Amino acid sequence: MDKKTLKDVELGGKRVVMRVDFNVPIKGGVIGDDTRVRAALPSIRYVLEQGASLVLMSHLGRPKGKGYEADFSLKPVAEHLAKLLEKPVAFAADCLAADAEAAALKPGEILVLENTRFYKEEEAKVKKTDDMTDEELKAKKAELKEKQQAMAKQLASYGEIFVNDAFGTAHRAHASTAVICRYIGTSVAGFLMEKEIRYLGNAVNNPERPFVAILGGAKVSDKLAVVKNLLDKVDTLIIGGGMAYTFLKAQGHDVGKSLCEEDQLDYAREMIAKAKAGGKQFLLPVDNVAADTFDAAAAVQTVGNDIPAGWMALDIGPKTTELYAEAIRGSKTVVWNGPMGCFEMAPFAAGTLGVCRAVADSGATSIIGGGDSVAAVNQSGLAEKMTHISTGGGASLEFLEGKELPGVAALNDK
Ligand code: AMP
Repeated sequence: MDKKTLKDVELGGKRVVMRVDFNVPIKGGVIGDDTRVRAALPSIRYVLEQGASLVLMSHLGRPKGKGYEADFSLKPVAEHLAKLLEKPVAFAADCLAADAEAAALKPGEILVLENTRFYKEEEAKVKKTDDMTDEELKAKKAELKEKQQAMAKQLASYGEIFVNDAFGTAHRAHASTAVICRYIGTSVAGFLMEKEIRYLGNAVNNPERPFVAILGGAKVSDKLAVVKNLLDKVDTLIIGGGMAYTFLKAQGHDVGKSLCEEDQLDYAREMIAKAKAGGKQFLLPVDNVAADTFDAAAAVQTVGNDIPAGWMALDIGPKTTELYAEAIRGSKTVVWNGPMGCFEMAPFAAGTLGVCRAVADSGATSIIGGGDSVAAVNQSGLAEKMTHISTGGGASLEFLEGKELPGVAALNDK
């Protein structure tokens, strides 16, 4: 890790502003799953124990960016945090008017700011409407950028040290994630951020070999850059899930009603050729579980790589699962993003669970990223056996694409 982390700065008596990922599922003020809040506790506790005061900020959900919306308030999360920490947690109802509350904090005290996305300038995203000219669009963007800088400056004024512990939004250059670093003395990574970067970074850039990447999920088009980047790094690339059928079609197979992106066939051929030229093992299904409708109660049959007309492949078949398991068993590093089939429906879960079991039993360093593969691993009951389960779907995907994450890039170098 070439960025400064919490351990590299003197915190005693300092005022710390920390971006966390408190974007939890919440309904009617009740938190459905507090994993993300708990994941931030090590950094929070450390800062408080070192004798600093702490201002926490986060987004929650997708509010309109036009002010307060009760459904997206962080107040219940602040209350929950107080229970977890067993100490009072103050709350500021407007993240950009918290000067007095922040100034009043004593060492060891903590303040949570209201949802940063109640302000449009947090993201500063501009949508082009039909009646907007290019000039107007440009002017709107510039105006929002300026507001974003003012917002970042205000958030920065609450402290002297910025800590980014929100890996889940590290791929976004928002006011509270990246822009703030321009206006505050020191910017460092929190423990969760550090862990994510270390595991993902080591796996991708310095893997113990053989290095196997498993990619699945619905669409090839979501993973174009990931396939390309990983092909340069891995020894074996395994493809499953809906995206496999574009590759099979590119090889001349009939895919029936399976997911297939016709506009990606050339890309798929190019990737197969790239793998061959690079001497990489590129594994595609050899059999499939096909259904006549997209339904858990559909008629089901196991078929080869030519999917009968009117049928859709919704999972890899048993021979494929075994083929993939064998490659995984021989590996020392595994990166997995995306399920092998529609694992949410029991008849199409076997492939994903089989791969999950193989990863768990492999003894390899295993990094799981992406919301759906994380859900599948949790469903399998094998989560404990994985080396690292990433908390950031989009961010981990962009990391695997080889992109620099703006929230990380903006932190101070060691
Ligand atoms: P993603 O968000 O791209 O990782 O895709 C995850 C989704 O892909 C899950 O909801 C799966 O149900 C779905 N999926 C996986 N395999 C298939 C398949 N063969 N056909 C259609 N959808 C699939």
